[in-house]
Amino acid sequence: MAIVVQKYGGTSVADVSRIRQVAERVMRTRRAGHDVVVVVSAMGDTTDDLLALAKEVSANPDRRELDMLLTAGERISMALLSMAIRELGGEAISFTGSQSGIITNDRHVDARIIEVRPFRVQDELARGRIVVIAGYQGVSYRREVTTLGRGGSDTTAVAMAAALGAQYCEICSDVDGVYTADPRVVSAATRIPALSYEETQELAESGAKVLNAQAVEFAKERGIAIYARATASALPGADPTVDGTVVRRHPPRMPGTVIGVASERDILVVESRARVDEVLALLDELSVAGKQLHADGDHRLTLVVSRENLHEEGRVRDVLGGRFGDRLRLVDNFGAVSVVGAGINASFENLRRGTEALTAVGLQPYSVATSSFRITWTVARTRLDDGVRALHATFLEQQGPAVP
Ligand code: ADP
Ligand code: ASP
Ligand code: MG
Repeated sequence: MAIVVQKYGGTSVADVSRIRQVAERVMRTRRAGHDVVVVVSAMGDTTDDLLALAKEVSANPDRRELDMLLTAGERISMALLSMAIRELGGEAISFTGSQSGIITNDRHVDARIIEVRPFRVQDELARGRIVVIAGYQGVSYRREVTTLGRGGSDTTAVAMAAALGAQYCEICSDVDGVYTADPRVVSAATRIPALSYEETQELAESGAKVLNAQAVEFAKERGIAIYARATASALPGADPTVDGTVVRRHPPRMPGTVIGVASERDILVVESRARVDEVLALLDELSVAGKQLHADGDHRLTLVVSRENLHEEGRVRDVLGGRFGDRLRLVDNFGAVSVVGAGINASFENLRRGTEALTAVGLQPYSVATSSFRITWTVARTRLDDGVRALHATFLEQQGPAVP
């Protein structure tokens, strides 16, 4: 029997009636003749609520203790889903990340999976059981409980699919696939039926929440097909691009085409005139992960830091301030907006068009950075959604100049 891995996000298991609906979908998959492994996120806003609780107790919560706390969220949903499947007559068993063999490095809060040893999962599948796994968590070689960073249940699912040699990995959510922009922000956004790993990875790294960037990286490495679908959808049919997005190896598109717009609201920009190597060493010591680094000589550095997994910002600010004083500042009023597509920087046309579109709505970009797949502008955070809409209108809604 082919193995199918299904991941259900927080909204899909937000309450008991939705957990029952997920249990029914799992049972349908089972009756269709598959071995089923299910990965679940914490119910609704549980992870945010647990984080808020931690902040009430400590402004700079210890990273190890945070992981102990946050992993509880997924543990609740795995047990409830397993019970709900049993109510429907299925034989289910739930496992934590550690029990299912997700081995990570020893970095707390944003650990990376380095190996999956799915022996217990395989044994239970062989017994004919449905295995329900708590997403977003693993165990380090030192036997410490770790979490995989926000949105990390996607990573659990893809890593498990790879380790089990699954036929495909379904990521089931409140949206029916990956859109040309966040449909909550751009009403004209459309579903993209098929995407390459590279395109999806760039969208995810630019802030499109629907798929986690590390998960896509795993899928690409191991050649796993991801089906991004709505939890309310039917099971994937012969052509899963009809009602979802399929991410797999694809023949290249026409180069230079923008396929999507994504944004990241919660970023900090580090601007430093201190020694670059010293700043980077201290950021590593503080476990602060950066992206989009630009260094100019030994003493000039600009770096974008995502706040997603930064839960001890006060402490980080204090330590950086104590060491570098006014030679380093953290700028806190920008967001980043990106357009993504293979070969979009072959000339500067797309960059110029995008900058013009942003300026036309009164957004003066603070900076712009490019890679072969992406153009990213930092703009005023309060106007970020206007930037997303302007870029979407320019690159994805206009069909070129009207024929006279
Ligand atoms: P889950 O809890 O199921 O993991 P997430 O909240 O992580 O769900 O991701 C789904 C959300 O991602 C959607 O509700 C949607 O608003 C948002 N989103 C952002 N960018 C995109 C995009 N390009 N396509 C689809 N959804 C997107
Ligand atoms: N519950 C975790 C989060 O909210 C992991 C996930 O949902 O993927 O980030
Ligand atoms: Mg998610």
